[in-house]
Amino acid sequence: MSYLVKNYNRKKISFKSGKGSYLFSSDKKKYLDFVQGIAVNSLGHSHPKLVKTIKFQSKKLWHVSNAFQIPEGEKLAEKLCKKTFADFVMFQNSGAEATEAAVKVARRYFYSIGKPNKNRILCVKNSFHGRTLAAIFASGSKKMTEGFGPKVPGFDHFKFGNHDSLKNKINKNTAAIMIETVMGEGGIKVIPDWCLRELRKLCNKKKILLILDEVQCGVGRSGDFFAFESSKIKPDIVPIAKGIGGGFPIGAVLMNKKVASGMIAGSHGSTFGGNPLAMSVGSAVMDIVSSKKFLNNIKILSKYFFKNLDKLKNKYPKIIKAVRGKGFLIGIQLYENPNKFIKKLMDNKLLTIRAAENVIRILPPLNVKKREIDVCLNIISKVCKDLN
Ligand SMILES: *Cc1c(COP(=O)(O)O)cnc(C)c1O
Repeated sequence: MSYLVKNYNRKKISFKSGKGSYLFSSDKKKYLDFVQGIAVNSLGHSHPKLVKTIKFQSKKLWHVSNAFQIPEGEKLAEKLCKKTFADFVMFQNSGAEATEAAVKVARRYFYSIGKPNKNRILCVKNSFHGRTLAAIFASGSKKMTEGFGPKVPGFDHFKFGNHDSLKNKINKNTAAIMIETVMGEGGIKVIPDWCLRELRKLCNKKKILLILDEVQCGVGRSGDFFAFESSKIKPDIVPIAKGIGGGFPIGAVLMNKKVASGMIAGSHGSTFGGNPLAMSVGSAVMDIVSSKKFLNNIKILSKYFFKNLDKLKNKYPKIIKAVRGKGFLIGIQLYENPNKFIKKLMDNKLLTIRAAENVIRILPPLNVKKREIDVCLNIISKVCKDLN
């Protein structure tokens, strides 16, 4: 008997401990964990530097109100701004909160310049921005919104890849376009760089804001600190979460000076957001993940990973339809429902997770070792062979 609400379809396995890329189950089996809490544990399990940071800070100070100065938050915000397009940061606790706050920042900006009717947000149909009421209606997925009406107004949708529909849906009330730079839950669909550049141009022309949701693909996951960096554009607002806490819940909205000007004292708040414990952990993650050398290593190993996955695709063309993604945000698209494949990977001690469009998501920690990638490739190869 479980007293937990049954809103998850949980696998019948639990874990006692984790170290780096590995998890140890309660029945004493060792699994290569390429889920990592869904792209959350950027540095794997129980990274010594994060353990040390949390021990140290927990003895000093956990939580104070945002009514007071929080130096640990000042420090992390400075690190984020120094490494990115952003001029200012606002801390939250999760991805959905960060995407909702991003929407609030966009609306508030137009309100502050005397255009309160510019408040609609244009999103991709069947995208993923989180599970709060506004976020599910922003995502525009039937499955996620079913039974949760009335509909939260203010969101319009266009079809992924349909540029005419995108242009047609922009009207005088549009405040911003919000998209995931790489669609995670939607099946690891990368928005190409040329597309991001066109999108930026379009937003400039229409005088609307560009929000890039990097909750999943940001913070090093793509091989750059942000997935949009390879396009050389600058968005106006970027919500982040998953990877920045290395397993500790942190969300944040990064933004430029222009839009930050609308957020005056009292306009937004969060009880927990930005507390000293979270901020210390985030700072420690940031120190490691934002280094050029660290990011470069992701690029090198990712190339190796993709090259070998492509080989498997060519060897098993009836099983694997496509291999796609960026950095360590990797999707293997199958022709069939991937549940059986994922179960077989798990039987062979490799943990992966599904995404839409029959995609198996591979999310190693960002500090994964080459030999661990080889272990993963061998298991995938074995399962392909078994199912062929
Ligand atoms: C996971 C995710 C969210 C929601 O994050 P939560 O922490 O679960 O609220 C939002 N946007 C994207 C792109 C995500 O992948």
